[in-house]
Amino acid sequence: MDMLINGEHVSDMDSEDVINPFNGEVIDSVPISHLNNVDKAIGAANNAKEVLQEMSAFKVSNKLYNVCEKLKENKEEFAELLTKEVGKPINEAYVELDRSIETLKLAAEEAKRIYGESVPLDAGLNGKGFFAFTQRLPLGVVAAITPFNYPLNLTIHKIAPAIACKNTVIIKPPTDAPLTVIKFAELVNEEFPAGVINVVTGYGSEVGDALVASDKIDKISFTGSVMTGMMISQRAGMKKVTLELGGNDPLVVLDDADVGAAVKGVINGAYLNAGQVCMGVKRIIVQEGIYEEFKAKLVEETSKIKMGNPMDRSTQLGTLISEKAAIHVEESVNNAVKDGAEILIGGKRDGAFYEATVVDKVTPDMDLVVNETFGPVAPLLKVKTVDEAIQIANATEYGLQAGVFTENYRNALRCANEIEAGTVFVNKQPTFRTDNMPFGGFKNSGCGKEGIKYAVEEMTKTKLIGLNLR
Ligand code: NAP
Repeated sequence: MDMLINGEHVSDMDSEDVINPFNGEVIDSVPISHLNNVDKAIGAANNAKEVLQEMSAFKVSNKLYNVCEKLKENKEEFAELLTKEVGKPINEAYVELDRSIETLKLAAEEAKRIYGESVPLDAGLNGKGFFAFTQRLPLGVVAAITPFNYPLNLTIHKIAPAIACKNTVIIKPPTDAPLTVIKFAELVNEEFPAGVINVVTGYGSEVGDALVASDKIDKISFTGSVMTGMMISQRAGMKKVTLELGGNDPLVVLDDADVGAAVKGVINGAYLNAGQVCMGVKRIIVQEGIYEEFKAKLVEETSKIKMGNPMDRSTQLGTLISEKAAIHVEESVNNAVKDGAEILIGGKRDGAFYEATVVDKVTPDMDLVVNETFGPVAPLLKVKTVDEAIQIANATEYGLQAGVFTENYRNALRCANEIEAGTVFVNKQPTFRTDNMPFGGFKNSGCGKEGIKYAVEEMTKTKLIGLNLR
């Protein structure tokens, strides 16, 4: 597939194959953009600003609804391509498509709600006699840099609010999974004037970096790892930056929890998308009174997970994004075992597949739980008290989401108040998101929020206009 620059398909001299991680087949290839094409995309996005900003909110909203309809019409084709390039089960690909359609709808609605407010200047010293109000204005050009795990919906979480508040966009999709994003950008391009949406493909360290360093881009909206996020924040200079980064989310299960519900939470949270979810359940902190019962039920439910061909409707666990990624997970688990942990079920790798794996006797200092393990692994940590559970939950550089299972409202509120995370759920695992909620982490999990209304706030600037009526 070609890049999309100023409404045109553009190729380049070099290209990179996109591989299906399930069978190793080459699905397609994309250009490795040279920097002159990145410059062309930046030029096109800047040139298109005026025509987009001239468009009424009514028209922008209608056009976003039209894109939404087009995505609905092509849902099956998109879902199959998503499964092929990421290796996620087809059922999960359909969920991502439904979420993408919902995200677009939310943005089409939000396009009509870009409000300012009146400001009573007379509440300040010397402010009497003014009529003042604010406007929320587009920033200009937004560069969207996105990861492989939910390539479509996470990219739409940037494109849709950016256009809703009349910014033009340049996308740098993940090199491992760029195809659904390019295909989607083509749908947007059919509705909007040339240059409103552009896609440049190629390596993050070159193409992504060129966007981050450019002084002709007004905002970087990035989703990806902490390491890349830190590089971006150093390179971006004065431009606005939103960073949606990794997580190492704790799930706390207290003695008075509904064990069945908590186990279901782990099954849904630790193995979804083969564990490649920023807000996945990555550390399971269980109080000693129910530890054995919880462990036995978790192993039993894990044994029922069906791993296999991602295109098969009955498959629950597909591949990881690549064999390299699966080897990395295998090594993290094996290192924990060397340090005293015990695999209760799973632990075997076959190419890019890694089994759903429960690991017992994990201690807080093991790399498996210090770092973000991006695979279908459920590491169990045993604690005596609620205090200890909260302390371990917070003993991490990350702070994306957290969950606590308990029937005691005091413990629920204590955990909710004291666990440092952008979202804490009670009796629900992390790995839960609706596309309208404010989403974003504390600590090294990032800065800024997404969720359409909140993304719009981050993609607009506020101007105050004051009329001196005296
Ligand atoms: P990644 O390696 O950081 O890559 C993300 C994107 O950044 C890719 O498009 C990548 O391009 C690009 N990139 C790499 N180096 C860059 C640089 N120096 N400058 C600019 N762009 C650069 O992350 P990933 O492995 O794809 O995704 C997994 C990570 O994302 C996990 O940590 C996960 O938790 C996190 N994540 C967070 C959220 C959230 O909302 N908080 C959601 C999903 C995932 P290439 O593909 O060419 O390398």
